[in-house]
Amino acid sequence: MAFLAVLPAPSDSSVEEEDEDDMDFYNECMLRGKSMSLSAFYRIARNVLNTCFRKEPTTQEVEHEYWKLVDERLIHTAVHTAIVDTKSLGSGFPIHRQDSFAKHGWNLTTVPSNHHNILRYLGSMSGVTAPWLLVGMLFTTSCWSCDSHKLPSIEYLHTGADKIWYSIPQSEHVKFRKAMHSLVPDLCSEGLCWLEKDAAMVPPSALLAEGVSLCRVEQKSGQYLVTFSGSYVANICCGYSVAEAVYFATLQWLPVGQVAIQMLRQQCKETLFSIEKLLVLLGMSEVDRGNAKILSWVLPEIIQVRDTELQLRSRLRQEGLTAAGRYGWLEEGHGRKQGKKVPTDTQERQCEKCDYPCYLSMVVEEQENEVYCLQHALDYIKDKKSCQGLKFMYRYDEEQIQDLVNRIELVVTCTQDGHRTKNKVACKTTANTAS
Ligand SMILES: [Zn+2]
Repeated sequence: MAFLAVLPAPSDSSVEEEDEDDMDFYNECMLRGKSMSLSAFYRIARNVLNTCFRKEPTTQEVEHEYWKLVDERLIHTAVHTAIVDTKSLGSGFPIHRQDSFAKHGWNLTTVPSNHHNILRYLGSMSGVTAPWLLVGMLFTTSCWSCDSHKLPSIEYLHTGADKIWYSIPQSEHVKFRKAMHSLVPDLCSEGLCWLEKDAAMVPPSALLAEGVSLCRVEQKSGQYLVTFSGSYVANICCGYSVAEAVYFATLQWLPVGQVAIQMLRQQCKETLFSIEKLLVLLGMSEVDRGNAKILSWVLPEIIQVRDTELQLRSRLRQEGLTAAGRYGWLEEGHGRKQGKKVPTDTQERQCEKCDYPCYLSMVVEEQENEVYCLQHALDYIKDKKSCQGLKFMYRYDEEQIQDLVNRIELVVTCTQDGHRTKNKVACKTTANTAS
């Protein structure tokens, strides 16, 4: 799928008179285009380059011309970019077993299953744990943005022209935000996502003049670039290029990610996945292994999740919601385990109000088959002054959630007491008795 990356046109009085739809068009940096083959994309890329430059430009020449266009705002320039899901359309890295690089750590298709990447517990998810291909041409732009989940990412430039990156570390955020509010006030708002993705491209010289420190890097074909959690980045393609990128997360991301995702949720902004799902699956997997190092990061976050979840469930009961049912479990049908229920990875349904994926529980309005997260179910009940037609659905009952937290606590406490080796078996035995 190709997108048009449009450099903003000048705002003059003639534009102001046009209707709102046209204004939206002028203000949009990215517009969805039509699907095309890679060879067609390449032909357009060559044509754009030949139109703008008489001979193959250097990286510095492209950079100079780009910022001149943005600065002067006299020419409306449209170029293409494409974001391709490698899960369905293939990766630029070797994936066949016979290839010696198929399992190499720097092969980005192996990042989703890397031992230190906690996102692996989510399984394969397009746009989250599966890499995506980025195809660009001269002036293809990724405007100033910070991943709203504060996830770090890694990008490899497979082939083609250089990419110029600008980056602002988290320590400069206050200055950056102040500068952007002063330079492009119409494009800034309040809250966590104060600068919408792909909304603004401000020259680094203007930011430096406002006292913001930033880094500049030229990424060349065959090089990797890592974007750290919480940093603002922007990039420009200097010609046709094919890159591949993927998110990852280490344990240290957990508290940062929990805050970021809960804030997105409060503001009804789209989230890539449920943080509750990640914490529960991570906790369940590592508690059986007695992995105190990982669990000590999980514990404070999962306690927070438990407290919120149990409090909301209690409030719903107080409001009179008694109809309840279970989802996400399958009965095993053969062998000695016959009749035993096991969790199954069903797709989470999203809340009607905030779009958050409901992993632990949800409330279903049965007539319209609408789903609400617990907080928005409480709002719904307050509004309707009734629980009629609502049913509380849960994946884990309260005892199971509490039991998981207890087991994690046991492993962490035993290790902190300095009896790791001696008590590992004892911990497991106690935990099994408790479960
Ligand atoms: Zn909701």
